[in-house]
Amino acid sequence: MSLPVVTRFAPSPTGALHLGNVRTAFFSYLWARMTGGRFILRIEDTDVDRSEQRFRDALIAELRWLGLDWDEGPDIGGPNAPYSQAERGAFYRGLFAQLEAEGRCYPCYCSAEDLELSRKLQRMAGKPPRYAGTCRSLSRAERAEREARGLRPTLRFAVPADAVIEFVDSVHGPQRFQSDDIGDFIVRRDDGSSSFFFCNAVDDSVMDVTQVLRGDDHLTNTPRQLMVLDALGMRRPGYGHVGLLVGADGAPLSKRHGSTSVNEFRTRGFLSAALLNHLFHLGHTSDAEAWLSVAEMPAHFRPEHLGRAAARFDESQLTHWQKETLAHMSTAEIGSWLGLGDNAELIELVRHNVVLPADAGVWVAAVRGELPPLGDDERRVVEAAGREFFTAAAAATVEAGTDFKQLTKLLKERTGRKGADLFMPLRVALTGQLHGPELAPLFKLIQPEMARRRFELHAQNP
Ligand code: GLU
Ligand code: ZN
Repeated sequence: MSLPVVTRFAPSPTGALHLGNVRTAFFSYLWARMTGGRFILRIEDTDVDRSEQRFRDALIAELRWLGLDWDEGPDIGGPNAPYSQAERGAFYRGLFAQLEAEGRCYPCYCSAEDLELSRKLQRMAGKPPRYAGTCRSLSRAERAEREARGLRPTLRFAVPADAVIEFVDSVHGPQRFQSDDIGDFIVRRDDGSSSFFFCNAVDDSVMDVTQVLRGDDHLTNTPRQLMVLDALGMRRPGYGHVGLLVGADGAPLSKRHGSTSVNEFRTRGFLSAALLNHLFHLGHTSDAEAWLSVAEMPAHFRPEHLGRAAARFDESQLTHWQKETLAHMSTAEIGSWLGLGDNAELIELVRHNVVLPADAGVWVAAVRGELPPLGDDERRVVEAAGREFFTAAAAATVEAGTDFKQLTKLLKERTGRKGADLFMPLRVALTGQLHGPELAPLFKLIQPEMARRRFELHAQNP
């Protein structure tokens, strides 16, 4: 019998929740839900200088907004609590003591300058820079002397010589690394906190995680982490490294591509289901091409179809999924999303012309009567049409009511205008804009009295 699948998301609360991180979190979530396993949220906050409570709060709020849930986590507890690594120091200290007692770790007193100099020398000699092993064989007396000078050591893992580290990556397949290519790495910082290599690996092991999914950028960290687990005699989780998220130009997704954080997309008005449908197809091929609700997705998730290639984030794709999401929403849902209350006619008119809530503004203003002040181009159109045109329009509105076709027919007869000369001034007077939605359905929703007043305004003002 195989173990139940346990996956996790292990963010560092050092910034806004990035789309790339959410993508691996989401795949991990789906993997657990697909199999009836467990999904854990663990906060990796041992780096006290960079971790902030506000980032932690925000990332939890954003995961919730996306509609993800977890079975264990800092906000709900669980059998492996605490789920904040800053609170797990005692556990790590016990393991450090064990490794030190067995000679698998040693204190390193090198300063940042020492290390920089050493790296420089190695580069000059044409070698890849790595820790030179300076402190590995210090005698007891040499250590005592450095302690007496008040130096605060880091703790380094003594990488065994001539070993081979192998594992099967669930995305990349069989992997093989030589220990001799890996320098002794830091497992405990000089402030006593655990480094990523260490706490990330031991926590995945003791929290019974069976499948780690993370970005490609961690692939070369994995042999280090496996050495730590092997030295401690701890169970290895499975690892899978997915291709990174890149922008349209193929470079890692970053600020210069526009929005990159969940919060930015949320603020702009993208719906969580749109984001999740886009992420679902980024570097993952599924049997499902159509829009899915979050609840439907686990059944269509295929961890064996996660890709190695970089996945391209494309906002036009996101827009496509936004439209699909809107198409799956009820009139009432759209109404409350756009803040339109229960005016079903208005909602139905607007919903097909809106991708983001801001797009509804022009419609709502036109119907509710708060037009923005005219811009220069709009003003020119009004002036070109002339006062008599708007006087005629106001009069025709009284006869046409909410029938836009009738209005334009009367105006055509009475002013001789047609095409853009006829429609543009009407559009500007009714909406305040040169571009926008089809006028006939909009006109139906504008009170004839309000339309008449808008025309009158331009009949009087120069
Ligand atoms: N805290 C790490 C990060 O955010 C976790 C990486 C992992 O998933 O193992 O990069
Ligand atoms: Zn050293």
